[in-house]
Amino acid sequence: MVQGKTIVVKVGSSLLANAERLTPRWAFMHNLLEDIARLREGGAKVILCSSGSVALGLNMIGERPETAGLRDKQAAAACGMPLLLNGYKQVAHEYSFEIAQVLVTLRDLEDRKRFLNTKNTVDRLLAANIMPIINENDTITTEEIRVGDNDRLSAKIAQMVQADLLVILTQVDGLYDKDPSEPGAKLVEELRDVSPYLAVTEGVSDLGSGGMLTKIQAAHMAQNAGCDTLIAHGEYEQPVTSLLNGGRRHTKILANELPESAWANWLSDRLQMAGSIVVNQETADAFKSGPRHIGREDVLSIQGPYVKGDVIHIYGESGTELARGLTNFSSDETMALARNPNMSAMQLLGYKTGGTLITDKNIVVLDDRHLQWELPADDVMTEVLPKN
Ligand code: GLU
Repeated sequence: MVQGKTIVVKVGSSLLANAERLTPRWAFMHNLLEDIARLREGGAKVILCSSGSVALGLNMIGERPETAGLRDKQAAAACGMPLLLNGYKQVAHEYSFEIAQVLVTLRDLEDRKRFLNTKNTVDRLLAANIMPIINENDTITTEEIRVGDNDRLSAKIAQMVQADLLVILTQVDGLYDKDPSEPGAKLVEELRDVSPYLAVTEGVSDLGSGGMLTKIQAAHMAQNAGCDTLIAHGEYEQPVTSLLNGGRRHTKILANELPESAWANWLSDRLQMAGSIVVNQETADAFKSGPRHIGREDVLSIQGPYVKGDVIHIYGESGTELARGLTNFSSDETMALARNPNMSAMQLLGYKTGGTLITDKNIVVLDDRHLQWELPADDVMTEVLPKN
């Protein structure tokens, strides 16, 4: 049943660390790796996206999850990561397979070159039949430059390896139609359109960083890449295969039947906004029939700073997000080009360049399947032609 499939399994901190004592939950780790060994024997390629480094490192630095600040968490991750990986290494040996650690940062996912570099490493490990265990490099990331939750990180990895299935194991049975503590709340067994649920899915656990919201966002990223997502309770004898055999409750978020290309997925699914521009009505209208080049005459305002190679968000004058595209110029260069339409790019920038801000093949026009982001506030947008 799993022969030839690529499966990303994400496990949350509350499954790996005892909530009171903040010590490893070895029994869970055994169950999980035993089940993963079963999937591997069945012919699946498995990647594990594991949280837990912060929670398991807190004791060593004398902190608690409720009070730990960013620096405490960075230090805790440095303490917890070797403990976690050493545990995985030893338990995986018991089930006769090898694991390897891959720590990533936001930039490794958002920057195209670094994304491909990370993908090559993960692919090479899979080719050697080693299970990559992926986590964010929390020790060196700060609030502004971190993914923050392993739900969306695991979805990015699922996109990266073009996975067939993303399994998010947590401490609830799945997504409920309202707060699960309210009477009458029902488990949503299967869904395709996630947008109505994004409003009712707040609530974060003490140990991890994600809540149901980030899980739904993750499922949405995965579905655009043609990957199904299962959200389920992890506390179970065979946490993954029991789901695949249809034996227990979970939420399934169905893959989009017409997935976008890997390139379009990478381009359109962003974890953080690098910058944005507002374009004129003519460009907005042209997008209705697909991507087109954006020139300096099309831009009305700019929000930076961003650099060449960043993916920026493209808005219409009404504030609706229309598209995302990989920019050929930094925000400063874009402003110089847009403000001086009669000067050549060579004169303005000092090097030879075509002057197209964003090329059509580097643009994805957003449609129903994409969640639009809000236009940044007025005070961070700079108009090309300042109003008097
Ligand atoms: N990267 C964090 C850790 O290892 C967890 C992030 C999350 O909870 O999603 O502790």
